[in-house]
Amino acid sequence: MKCPYCGSEKVEPVKSWEMPKMGYKVTHYRCKNCGGLFNHYAGKGKEFVLRVGPRRRG
Ligand SMILES: [Zn+2]
Repeated sequence: MKCPYCGSEKVEPVKSWEMPKMGYKVTHYRCKNCGGLFNHYAGKGKEFVLRVGPRRRG
């Protein structure tokens, strides 16, 4: 898993939950490098990342 903001792999899962109606499992990540927050969606045959929250620098 790479951070969509800075590309760092130093990300940690904060929490995860299921979206049964959508068929997705969602994991909320935080980047240790830039502090960016994003959600990883994993479903049937596809997965994607959505950025959430403001990007912080430093
Ligand atoms: Zn980052």
